Amino acid sequence: MKEKFQIYNTLTRKKEVFEAINPPHVGIYVCGPTVYGDPHLGHARPAITFDVLFRYLKFKGYKVRYVRNITDVGHLENDADSGEDKIARKARIEQLEPMEVVQYYTYRYHKFIEMLNVLPPSIEPVASGHIIEQQELVEKIIENGYAYESNGSVYFDVEEYNKKYIYGKLSGRRIEELMENTRELAGQEEKHNNVDFAIWKKAGPQHIMRWKSKWSEGFPGWHLECSAMSTKYLGYKFDIHGGGMDLLFPHHECEISQTVAAFGQESVKYWMHNNMITINGQKMAKSLGNFINLEQLFTGNHPMLQQAYSPMTIRFFILQAHYRGTLDFSNEALQAADKGLQRLFAGINTLEKLKTSDKSTVNINELSSLCLEAMDDDMNTPILISHLFDGVRMINSVAAGNESLTQEDLSKLKKLYGDFVTDILGLTDEKSGLGSDSLLKEVVDLLLHVRMEAKAKKDYATSDKIRNNLTAMGFEIKDSKDGFDWELP
Ligand code: ZN
Repeated sequence: MKEKFQIYNTLTRKKEVFEAINPPHVGIYVCGPTVYGDPHLGHARPAITFDVLFRYLKFKGYKVRYVRNITDVGHLENDADSGEDKIARKARIEQLEPMEVVQYYTYRYHKFIEMLNVLPPSIEPVASGHIIEQQELVEKIIENGYAYESNGSVYFDVEEYNKKYIYGKLSGRRIEELMENTRELAGQEEKHNNVDFAIWKKAGPQHIMRWKSKWSEGFPGWHLECSAMSTKYLGYKFDIHGGGMDLLFPHHECEISQTVAAFGQESVKYWMHNNMITINGQKMAKSLGNFINLEQLFTGNHPMLQQAYSPMTIRFFILQAHYRGTLDFSNEALQAADKGLQRLFAGINTLEKLKTSDKSTVNINELSSLCLEAMDDDMNTPILISHLFDGVRMINSVAAGNESLTQEDLSKLKKLYGDFVTDILGLTDEKSGLGSDSLLKEVVDLLLHVRMEAKAKKDYATSDKIRNNLTAMGFEIKDSKDGFDWELP
């Protein structure tokens, strides 16, 4: 924890040196998916961004409690507080029980996110499992005078809140403009003001997901779940709240208002937001037909895809851009990412075979501090990756005999790639089929050494048997003058 880790705080609109509230503990809350559809590129970016944050803080020695929720109730179609619940709608169309929809897509989310090598969070709470906590929060907000009941629903009183606090401080939106812009909307007569938002909604007769409360049989507002679950698991004051930029307003703005209205203080020290992914320069939207889910990316089964892209290619592609910048998806960009990733792992494979000498002509300490500096600068993964490629050039010139390094430096270099590539960026070598596990590699090497010995003794039955069986399993074996080389196809 020596180095200064700077992160950009959306709330203060500047980079700040990260200081944990209660070191060595760090609490992170990230808004997870609403599980009514297959995970897509838009889910992959926040999952990977905050996975790298989680990994980096652990690398720095913090004990991190990472909470990422699953929204299984209360997220209405227009993201505010009208329209049908997204999960209830899917359940109605598919003639399923809502929890079947939730179970199915939660499973799919976990499966594909894990393929991207995203670590599971420490706690993954679901909204429907925290109805009591959400009702208690509604009561507190009413008691404190910042919410009112209307026809069985409860609305947050934005105007009242804004008399004492600032609604819009995170997004920079001004309440006067918001009230101006929303005045024309029809069908909102339950609210005192159109800028108000539901924290409890009375369920209509068709609505399946409903719970008893003192106000009505209904369900909690979408924004409320994150206020309830973040403070339950991380305390009233916690370090980092993350999510996609699309959640900044109204979702996160409302979260701040709710926690301040309930507890009299803001709960989040640093707000972090990842930017969006565009596809060939366009926003992802069902109506544009450019919605590509992760399974389609991994199989290539989508009209816009020229080929399948592996999970690590997707992960590397996302990490090649800074998380606060937009990232444009295209086949060309993904193919370039795939080539880059292969070059990186080719370098790491060469590193494993480097011969050492009694003096170093390369500076590993300098490379190592440059890598740390890049990560400490608001997780600048593209700069980190460019330093890792500088390292690959260094490795290749040592292998070519143009540079040399000592045993001690070789160990440092191996540790550097293990730390930054495997542990922090979470990249694994798919080509070898090994991930970070080198056991299979050792076993195959052992078999091929046995084969070489057999050949030397002219025991061709044994040597052919080993070669033929490995080839049948898909290994590609190449003999060379002084030994062998092999890879998985
Ligand atoms: Zn949330």
